[in-house]
Amino acid sequence: MRSPLVTVTDLKVHFPIKKGILAKTVGHVYAVDGISFDIMPGETIGIVGESGCGKTTAGMAMVQLTPVTSGAVLWKGRDMAEMTRSELRALRREMQLIFQDPYSSLNPRMTVRQILSDPMDVHGMFTGRQRKERIDFLLDTVGLSPGQADLYPHEFSGGQRQRIGIARALALDPCLIIGDEPVSALDVSIQAQIINLLKRLKRDFNLSLIIISHDLAVVEYICDRIIVMYLGKIVEASDYASLYKNPKHPYTRTLMSAIPVPDPARRTRRIILKGDVPSPINPPAGCRFHTRCPDRMEICHKQEPAMRRFGDRHTAACHLYTEEQAEPVDNKPKAKEKIS
Ligand code: SF4
Repeated sequence: MRSPLVTVTDLKVHFPIKKGILAKTVGHVYAVDGISFDIMPGETIGIVGESGCGKTTAGMAMVQLTPVTSGAVLWKGRDMAEMTRSELRALRREMQLIFQDPYSSLNPRMTVRQILSDPMDVHGMFTGRQRKERIDFLLDTVGLSPGQADLYPHEFSGGQRQRIGIARALALDPCLIIGDEPVSALDVSIQAQIINLLKRLKRDFNLSLIIISHDLAVVEYICDRIIVMYLGKIVEASDYASLYKNPKHPYTRTLMSAIPVPDPARRTRRIILKGDVPSPINPPAGCRFHTRCPDRMEICHKQEPAMRRFGDRHTAACHLYTEEQAEPVDNKPKAKEKIS
């Protein structure tokens, strides 16, 4: 049996709110509040939800770019929190990021060659003659010409700049790429090109991908599995086919109702949620979605719903389903609290 590349167990990221000259902690932002999932080699996972749901923080915590409050992230079975600095540095080579804004994430004073050389210099890879060959290969792979290596970012279009960002992420031959809203700053026609490029790269390099997006329509075409987050929690997770055929959680249904259907004969009813996402500083008791849920019941205000299993890899947390309809998932924390 294959082992997961990454295992996330009961991950929490709580940011302290400090006030006064003594910087006293007066509260916390519960950005990520106990999420568990894994990623298999070669798998693409989409993490979706509205802004403020904790999806980007979860991605950053996975690569240890934001401090983890508790829980564990295992890389090929090893707890990243127990790795030494040099082990973590070496590991970063295998995990790379693609950012939302391809313009601000590229240094405008550096040529594409310098941008692609930078991570190779940091990790001492592809020196001398190999360097030029590698850069030519990367540009060709992402659909740019090796002749463009000495141009600056402002000489490219938005879609081309995102291709440079993808080439930089590929530079060190990673196993996992995390794309934080990788297409949301691009025109719709360019979005499709970048998604197709990511799909091809995943297949050609056997990459695992995590695509973080607020838009289910974006992850629909590329992801094997989708995780839906709301206010720091996973509310539903499933393989692509099962989620689109039979979404269980009212929040997932709302997100799905916003996907445009390119068929005038098929009409879908758009579900509009009332109100804003509650503050992650003081999340609602019970089900966190109850303040906006069209299906809420009395119990939803008081009791947090347990995660339940609907078939092989489809889980959702909602009181609409009883034990007869779906078995509970054992989501007991397996990692020790590090910070109280
Ligand atoms: Fe809605 Fe209740 Fe289900 Fe939460 S638990 S999503 S409030 S029905």
